[in-house]
Amino acid sequence: MATDAGQTNTDRPYLRIYFACANQYVRVYRRPDRACYIARCPQCSMTKTFRVGVGGTSNRFFELTCR
Ligand SMILES: [Zn+2]
Repeated sequence: MATDAGQTNTDRPYLRIYFACANQYVRVYRRPDRACYIARCPQCSMTKTFRVGVGGTSNRFFELTCR
């Protein structure tokens, strides 16, 4: 049976972020209490918030430069 009304949390959504600053790919999971993702640069600790969902982006891959 299919229930489309509720959310299925069987697999957690995530984004893949490439930090040019650190030359690393980072997988960012969504915060359970927010409809956003917070990516953190492993090199310089800069953070960037992505909003995903209705009205947001459906892109799953981003490249970030910290400058
Ligand atoms: Zn950085």
